Amino acid sequence: MAKLMIEDLDVKGKRVLMRVDFNVPQNDDGTVRDDTRIRAALKSIQYVRDNGGMLILMSHLGRPKNPDKAESEEEKAKIIKANQKLRMDFVADTLRGLVGGNVTKVDAIVGPEVKQAVDAMKPGDIILLENTRFHAGETKNDEALSKELAALGDVYVSDAFGSVHRAHASTEGVTRFIGKSAAGYLVAKEMEYFSKVLQNPDRPLTAVLGGAKVSDKITVIDNLLNLVDTLIIGGGMAYTFMKAQGYEIGDSLLDEGGIDVARKAMEKAKARGIELLLPEDTVVADAFDANAHTKVAGLGQIEPGWQGLDIGPKTLEAFMAAIKRSKMVVWNGPVGVFEMEPFAKGTRAIAELLANSPGITSVIGGGDTAAAVTQYGLAGKMSHVSTGGGASLEMLEGKELPGLAALSDK
Ligand code: AMP
Repeated sequence: MAKLMIEDLDVKGKRVLMRVDFNVPQNDDGTVRDDTRIRAALKSIQYVRDNGGMLILMSHLGRPKNPDKAESEEEKAKIIKANQKLRMDFVADTLRGLVGGNVTKVDAIVGPEVKQAVDAMKPGDIILLENTRFHAGETKNDEALSKELAALGDVYVSDAFGSVHRAHASTEGVTRFIGKSAAGYLVAKEMEYFSKVLQNPDRPLTAVLGGAKVSDKITVIDNLLNLVDTLIIGGGMAYTFMKAQGYEIGDSLLDEGGIDVARKAMEKAKARGIELLLPEDTVVADAFDANAHTKVAGLGQIEPGWQGLDIGPKTLEAFMAAIKRSKMVVWNGPVGVFEMEPFAKGTRAIAELLANSPGITSVIGGGDTAAAVTQYGLAGKMSHVSTGGGASLEMLEGKELPGLAALSDK
């Protein structure tokens, strides 16, 4: 069922409670190191202001600990100090710079201080609440907190895709006690691309899966095998597949618990006539180190003391050919240890191919894959780069995400 969009809401004179993802990377002094996530929310923020609404913004930042749970006074003091850096004041400073003033930061999430500030708002005003995770009720999806948050606004907008897979008070609970709930521009774009992949993909549809462990991606693999024409598997998880095929993998990453999963996936692909591409060769190194010795090894040729850290040249060629045949590609997980230059070749080549293929709709999962394409300066050339690591993975698992399910139907 289609969900309500921010543009479907009448925001004139209304208090709009908006969940944003201001969980930004910070410098040691707490200042914002990368404001991408704040900029990403500007379109929705601007929409509300341009249409005469008042904005109450909320977000979490980092993972604050609860000082009341400290086991000693010393630990308590440490937690309080660490949490100081996670207050939203630095974020408010950056936001103020981006929207040209007019941002009031309150030092609480709910309570009299917040209510007073909200009551004094005029159209165009912005209030930024304190870090939602300072309140123990947030991650518990506490009903009392949800109600208090809901009472602050007339309508709710979700623009924090990175948090929609969590049923928290600010992402799910709150929607049960407020007027209408709609998707902001960011979330709407995520929903548009993922529902296209899941419900109505351009074919051939290819999925590229990489990353470290098979066990983390069991459900994704299984769901993708119901969906795609071609499944490409690279990265650390490919060695578990090689092991399942009976090849020696030396010191490469092995996920013992994933061997059976790999075997079943290969059977399922075969039964369904889905093309499953696994590495034929691999770049091996004698240490997990950017300065290690490296060479290329074929299947079954990885010796003890050596580990596979990137796909090899033949594999890259085969993966590229399959991608070129596709109309739509969804990619989750680097195909090598891209953080180290000698093992980044495969990941970079796939990123470049997608970026330079206007005929392919490219949907890039959040987390490491998004980080890789951003690092190569190619994010802008992809059809869609997801802003949520966990959320994009759960989308591909075919799960219902609580923060999306909670939005009002159109
Ligand atoms: P994930 O969080 O499961 O998507 O895993 C991402 C991580 O997998 C990245 O940090 C990569 O460096 C790592 N990775 C990719 N290929 C390999 C490999 N062959 N061996 C070990 N780690 C890998």
